[in-house]
Amino acid sequence: MSSTETNTATLSDEELLRYSRQLLLEPFGFEAQLRFKQANVLIIGLGGLGSPAALYLAAAGIGKLTLSDYDQLDLTNLQRQILYRTSQVDEHKSQAAGDNLAALNPHVVTEILSEKLDTEGLEAQVANADVVLDCTDNLDTRYAINAACVKHKTALVTAAAIGMEGHFTFFDPSEDNAPCYQCMVPDTGQRPDANCATNGVLGPVLGMMGSLQALTTLKHLAGLDSQKHTLVRFDAMNLGFQQFKLVRDPQCPVCSR
Ligand SMILES: [Zn+2]
Repeated sequence: MSSTETNTATLSDEELLRYSRQLLLEPFGFEAQLRFKQANVLIIGLGGLGSPAALYLAAAGIGKLTLSDYDQLDLTNLQRQILYRTSQVDEHKSQAAGDNLAALNPHVVTEILSEKLDTEGLEAQVANADVVLDCTDNLDTRYAINAACVKHKTALVTAAAIGMEGHFTFFDPSEDNAPCYQCMVPDTGQRPDANCATNGVLGPVLGMMGSLQALTTLKHLAGLDSQKHTLVRFDAMNLGFQQFKLVRDPQCPVCSR
């Protein structure tokens, strides 16, 4: 963990200066900045989505970032995972991420989770988080994160990108009749073969989606309307966004029980 500022009830002069450009912004301001400082955001997956999301959230002054990834940094990651440096190849991603985020903003406390979380560990982390960012790339993990967020009514910001297309959705299980990730992507038992390793992906497409995850997290923590339960689809070829309103699946085994 790293921290130079432990008083979460106020902002130091250095913090007021550091965050001055967002403190000037009408819907944010001092109260929102304090909420950022008091928040614990759990980021699961520190790859192409988690990199920009973590960088923006650390820069914006989120008080605690809990960083979960059990992979080591590979040379092929650096094309899109902008959180890391070439000198960090073979390091544990979560530790390398923590080091780089602390260098960016020493006010941010980081908790490093470099082991794969079991169901119990995942639930404990989700229960402690104000917002969870699903930045993973496999469906089983996505379902497990979703189930934990539904159970603990923790806000879940998910995104995915493959090829030239990105998807983004914000779920708030604390709302009555909220749909969940598994309403949107029912578990048919099938697992797609396609991922970044087989289909390829461009860094900036992941960057767009990770950026949306950070943006939505800040808006939600500030108490602003953040377009919940809407699938946002980004077409990187034509620069088009489409939005699809989601509703709860009454047969969903996760949220409709
Ligand atoms: Zn559901």
